[in-house]
Amino acid sequence: MKYIGAHVSISGGAEKAPQNAKSIGAKAFAIFTRNQRRWMSKPLTDKNITQFKENCKSAGYDPGHILPHDSYLINLGHPEEEGLEKSRTAFLDEMQRCEQLGLRYLNFHPGSHLNRIDPDHCLERIAESINLTLGQTTGITVVIENTAGQGTNMGHRFEHLARIIDNVRDKTRIGVCLDTCHTYSAGYDIKTARAFENTLREFDNIVGISYLKAMHLNDSKKILGSRVDRHESIGKGSLGLEPFRFIMNDPRFDHIPMILETPDQSIWEEEIRLLYGLIK
Ligand SMILES: [Zn+2]
Ligand SMILES: [Zn+2]
Repeated sequence: MKYIGAHVSISGGAEKAPQNAKSIGAKAFAIFTRNQRRWMSKPLTDKNITQFKENCKSAGYDPGHILPHDSYLINLGHPEEEGLEKSRTAFLDEMQRCEQLGLRYLNFHPGSHLNRIDPDHCLERIAESINLTLGQTTGITVVIENTAGQGTNMGHRFEHLARIIDNVRDKTRIGVCLDTCHTYSAGYDIKTARAFENTLREFDNIVGISYLKAMHLNDSKKILGSRVDRHESIGKGSLGLEPFRFIMNDPRFDHIPMILETPDQSIWEEEIRLLYGLIK
């Protein structure tokens, strides 16, 4: 069974998300649990929390198919003490919000070295940030997203993900989200079934397929290895439909949330239908 959804709005409160997802025919969804462009956010109210849980239940969404995404401001590998502290505090707050909402995952971007520390050191900092956060929370698995490798962003090589996981103490609470656009932009070919198979084999060898907990389904405006992160609607970019046909027919992608982050949200419903239509 495939669980396709999209990153839906929480305008009016997190409790609005399940209905927003339902209305586009989604079987999974992603949300921000707070304003993703600000450091400070209002705490969730009891009403937000109870209604969110009730609405998920009545719309039929299991926490295992909901993939909250952290704020873009957070850099868990920040080279400077102040920025690192700020990021760790905000990340802990996000984890606690996920706990409150009864969720299971928090999806995040690993971090950036900003040319001020070496990449290896940055990866160690990221792992340490994760260890600190896992030690102060229960029940939530952190899900690292692979990146396109823009600028000084870490996480565009499978080796980076493996290195972080290696240094995380509780391996039962860490997973990976592969973003199709980022994977391709980072230089891993997935354009044909054969190329996708090779990339998955490489992922399995370096990271381990058992860590794959989620997918982001995006086409890419840019070419293979561009290291530029520009999402495109499904089938309309440089990837085309083949990689998505591969995903929809491969059991390794069963039961995990697979989230659209494509630019035209007015066609998400159509894109979800298109994806399910690829199942042979
Ligand atoms: Zn992301
Ligand atoms: Zn993504």
